Amino acid sequence: MILLIIMKLKPSKIICVGLNYHDHAKEMKMAIPKEPVLFMKPLTALIYDGDSIVYPKQTKELHYEAELAIVIKDRCRSVSKAEAKRHIAGYTCANDVTARDLQKKDGQWTRAKGFDTFCPVGPKVVADIDPTKLDIKCYLNGELKQSSNTSDMIFDVYEIVEFVSSIMTLEKDDLILTGTPSGIGPMQVGDEVVVEVGGVGRLSSKLT
Ligand code: MG
Repeated sequence: MILLIIMKLKPSKIICVGLNYHDHAKEMKMAIPKEPVLFMKPLTALIYDGDSIVYPKQTKELHYEAELAIVIKDRCRSVSKAEAKRHIAGYTCANDVTARDLQKKDGQWTRAKGFDTFCPVGPKVVADIDPTKLDIKCYLNGELKQSSNTSDMIFDVYEIVEFVSSIMTLEKDDLILTGTPSGIGPMQVGDEVVVEVGGVGRLSSKLT
């Protein structure tokens, strides 16, 4: 098994899927999408386990979103769902940190999800795991806030790789965040937020 050190990854981009859990779409009162809804985060948003999320002064409503992230193994394009597994190096935990007020205000998500430190990932990349039935949880100051399973995803990781690679070339180490389950909510300065994915790991961040 190849062990990947997350901080040594050199992704060319971070792609994210919005509204990809049935329970979260329900919570947001949104229709179930017929195709994955994509957006991107800048590489400058990346931080790692134990790093701090900086609460920007432009928002009054900063939310956590626990997510499973895919790490791409090699350059690929137009990959079928059946071939997708061969192009995935492994999986890690991610937090799609979101300024919810700015997301609603702007109508698109670049500012709301693109601030520096808004993409904690880690602590490690785990290969050889079935990504279709993993428990996914978020704890805020030790209190369970999100609890679901990747089996509730609307589009599974293989369908996501197929869809994204039909649009853009995926490069080695690229990250794809696969959406959050229900239970999203606010964080405050001083809080500790933990994203936990069963068999993958536990990603901790402090708010400053
Ligand atoms: Mg998200």
